[in-house]
Amino acid sequence: MQHDILNTSIDYLKGVGPKRGEVLKSELGIYTYLDLLHYFPFRYIDRSSTIKVNQIQVPNTAVQLSVVIYDIEELGPPRRKRLVAHARDETGDVVLVWFKGIKWIKSSVEIGKKYVLYGKANEYNNMWNFNHPELELEDKNKNKMGELQPIYHSGEKLTKFGLHSRGIENLQRNLLPLVLGYLNQTLSPELEKINAFLSNKETFKNIHFPQNSSLLKKAILRLKYEELFFLQLSMTRQKITTRRKVEGFKFEIVGQYFNDFYHHHLGFELTNAQKKVIKEFRKDLGLGKHMNRLLQGDVGSGKTIVAILTILLAIDNGFQACLMAPTEILANQHYDSIQPYFQKLGLKVSLLSGSVKKKDRVVIHEDLESGELNLLVGTHALLEDKVKFQNLGLAVIDEQHRFGVAQRAKLWKKNSCPPHILVMTATPIPRTLAMTFYGDLDVSVIDELPPGRKSIKTVHRFDSSRLKVFQFIEDEIKLGRQVYIVYPLIEESEKMDYKDLMDGYESVVRRFPLPDYTVSIVHGKMKPNDKEFEMERFVSGKSQIMVATTVIEVGVNVPNASLMVIESAERFGLSQLHQLRGRVGRGADQSYCILMTGFKLSEDGKTRIETMVRTNDGFEIAEQDLRLRGPGDIMGTQQSGVLDFKLADLAKDAQLVQLTKQHVDELLIRDPDLVLKESFFIRKELIRQSKLKPNWSNIS
Ligand code: ADP
Ligand code: MG
Repeated sequence: MQHDILNTSIDYLKGVGPKRGEVLKSELGIYTYLDLLHYFPFRYIDRSSTIKVNQIQVPNTAVQLSVVIYDIEELGPPRRKRLVAHARDETGDVVLVWFKGIKWIKSSVEIGKKYVLYGKANEYNNMWNFNHPELELEDKNKNKMGELQPIYHSGEKLTKFGLHSRGIENLQRNLLPLVLGYLNQTLSPELEKINAFLSNKETFKNIHFPQNSSLLKKAILRLKYEELFFLQLSMTRQKITTRRKVEGFKFEIVGQYFNDFYHHHLGFELTNAQKKVIKEFRKDLGLGKHMNRLLQGDVGSGKTIVAILTILLAIDNGFQACLMAPTEILANQHYDSIQPYFQKLGLKVSLLSGSVKKKDRVVIHEDLESGELNLLVGTHALLEDKVKFQNLGLAVIDEQHRFGVAQRAKLWKKNSCPPHILVMTATPIPRTLAMTFYGDLDVSVIDELPPGRKSIKTVHRFDSSRLKVFQFIEDEIKLGRQVYIVYPLIEESEKMDYKDLMDGYESVVRRFPLPDYTVSIVHGKMKPNDKEFEMERFVSGKSQIMVATTVIEVGVNVPNASLMVIESAERFGLSQLHQLRGRVGRGADQSYCILMTGFKLSEDGKTRIETMVRTNDGFEIAEQDLRLRGPGDIMGTQQSGVLDFKLADLAKDAQLVQLTKQHVDELLIRDPDLVLKESFFIRKELIRQSKLKPNWSNIS
């Protein structure tokens, strides 16, 4: 029985036994033969690509050497200890350095033995240095020239039990002959054929012990494909089932309010992108399907107007709507921009936030339940149980990154029939990420700015040119404009950061003194009232300069501000820099962004700054961000489980993501319930995987 062999407890494998079995389970989550089979090497040593020490040329590139370690010692004060080893081949010496795991490494390195070393070489004191290199004892018997040797992740505890990379390799050698004849089919013969895949058997043989690099590539391709295929399949199926199950309110008519606003109050022509997006919404809404959509659009692309039009559509069809923002300032701003329109249209909108007085709250609650109120704008306060709508038809959520999954789910429950959900974000998400991560949301994109916008000029300046930058600030203010100066604030170095902020503030005030200038300051440690006061002074133009931490990042709208100076810009992430820059360029004037840094920049820091200087395109920036940081960091750790691929990489495998998505869609059109013969193995594999993974069906 194939089933039994693959599910055999790992303890029974030759070379394991109960003790090693325990460690494999606790350290690597390997319980069965199948689990071990799916524990892939992360790298392969190719004997033929080893070079000599005197052939190392380019710093910061990975190389493989064959060296003897002849000396190892601990250096530095107790709290900043490092382990330094010296190694050589017949052409020269190199230095190896470790900052972590010192005790373990020191005790496991064998002096005088020959090692295969793999790592990035950096020049230091005229020597090539390797920080935390990978080391493998060279074993002449097993590795003939040209063979690819698998390297598995191991660790201190595993090593203690003889399960270093080589130990795991030996287990795989014992395992493969037992199981290769009994592997489950995972894909349909059709898909295997159109993709020209290796068989499962060849795939697993070559992922562990590649016969050559071309077969290895093919094995990796199949396994990556399967990872992406099954994730998208389960996401897409969930979307279909939710669709079928959940009926949505039908917004059949485009009525008086929508038309009145569109023809008489809008004051400008919608961009083609805005029109396209509204059409997409109307298609969902008109069909009585439940809409669950993500609207992406760069800062200033006109998402809010689109939201207002959608809200009017809901009202035209007899429903209420709500608009939820992540901060009070933003909620206020939305309210202020919507209220005048609603007044003209004869509609009623209220604002609900933490600082609304109890007396006023009660009125809002009543008006909401009686249906008197058409739209409620607010913060998290909207989610409270006391807030009951008469018939909530549409919930718009602005800047979704700040809202958790659970909060969105709460909105669903405000009615017996869930309202349509429109999530808006100004943080563009790369297509590949959106497709996999938001597989259950439909995505609309506004990829065009309203006409007449001048693109923001971005430059990079070193701290040493601060005087010139101050002069430029003065020039802008003389033209009647306003200026932001933003400082980083990171929790780990909070104290230092506040000091930098206050020092900076003082030097700005010294350069721009009263009575000619007024400088505002806003940061997270201020009382809400003080913060509000300072904000209001800047918004109303009473102060010309706003010194702030990233609290201003989200959504603040001061069209007269034309200059954004970002201090220590190298410390910000790309998407944060882009968000900050979006605070200017909102008016008719030419706007500028100055990125200040010191002289010393890391490679990544340099790339971030260069990217910002080169482009204003949020999607391009998001793609670059994905390449630099990886998907887990971008989406936050909270939900990154979805993206835990063993081999696939959303940043590098964009094409494969597209291809698998296409294949999934084609399959589900032919066979939505996976009941046809061709889907037999796919369905089985999907069920097997769904038992292993958490259920993500409630993401929105
Ligand atoms: P977002 O929310 O995407 O950052 P907004 O909806 O706040 O953008 O729009 C930014 C500014 O552009 C607003 O002042 C808005 O009135 C204006 N705007 C939106 N759409 C258009 C358009 N099609 N033509 C001209 N101005 C527009
Ligand atoms: Mg906005």
